[in-house]
Amino acid sequence: MRKRVYLVVAVVALALVAQSLFASLQAAQQQAFNGQRALADIEYQLALGPRTPGSAAHANTVEWMLRSLRAAGWGTEVQETEWLGQPVRNVIAKRGEGAPWLILGAHYDSRLSADFDPDSAAHIHPVPGANDGASGVAVLLELARVLPPDLPGQIWLVFFDAEDNGRIPGWDWIMGSRAFAQSLSEHPDAVIILDMIGDADLQVYYEANSDQNLRTEIWDTAAELGYADLLVPSVRHSMLDDHTPFIELGIPSVLLIDFDYPYWHTRQDTLDKVSAHSLQAIGDTILAWLLGRAD
Ligand SMILES: [Zn+2]
Repeated sequence: MRKRVYLVVAVVALALVAQSLFASLQAAQQQAFNGQRALADIEYQLALGPRTPGSAAHANTVEWMLRSLRAAGWGTEVQETEWLGQPVRNVIAKRGEGAPWLILGAHYDSRLSADFDPDSAAHIHPVPGANDGASGVAVLLELARVLPPDLPGQIWLVFFDAEDNGRIPGWDWIMGSRAFAQSLSEHPDAVIILDMIGDADLQVYYEANSDQNLRTEIWDTAAELGYADLLVPSVRHSMLDDHTPFIELGIPSVLLIDFDYPYWHTRQDTLDKVSAHSLQAIGDTILAWLLGRAD
């Protein structure tokens, strides 16, 4: 009788070892978010030049995003429309079917005028947009590479055009996301927007208009990963950004932004102001949150 007990214990122990081996094998297959690769994607966008609407750099960015997304196995579309008489080209990558339906978004355009530059002669020039524009695109593209293809439901990655030209005659803020939101015949379960999340001195506070439950989930995930000093769970700013049109439709939406950025809308919004570590913190957090939802 005693022998049989030992045998049962041994079999159970073996099963547990096998199970944990299998789990760690699965974990190893899950690709990690690579902050350095995301930083290289910011460098690439800056090398193209300011991605202002109508520029060659803008068109080249669209082509590059489409190539990168297809190479990572995503289906792609371009929404070609207009808003306030200006052309709008939103790039959309899709994967999966059914519910839950999540949209992750960032704007890819850069502002026509560096009108917050201390040098007034710079105001007629566009912003380089390392943090304001390129950082959100970089995190979304790296997520496109590392997200497992078999997550439940569907994920859309949306790269919004024409976010950043408010207070300029003939333009407005968030034109691309307004056109996109208006075109939706059904509503996603949640929308997560990334904007200005690459600052080397990163503190992303709760944004006042964002959905409180989603906000808590994402910031709790960051704290579990050891990023509590970068994602700070207290409200600081209230923003009009690409999450706004979705909030107006009643869709739970969250904006991640560090709006305390001294180089905002200046010609100093350059590569040396952003860091791989900040991109890593945001990428790790969003990836872990998405994987946690899938469990
Ligand atoms: Zn901006």
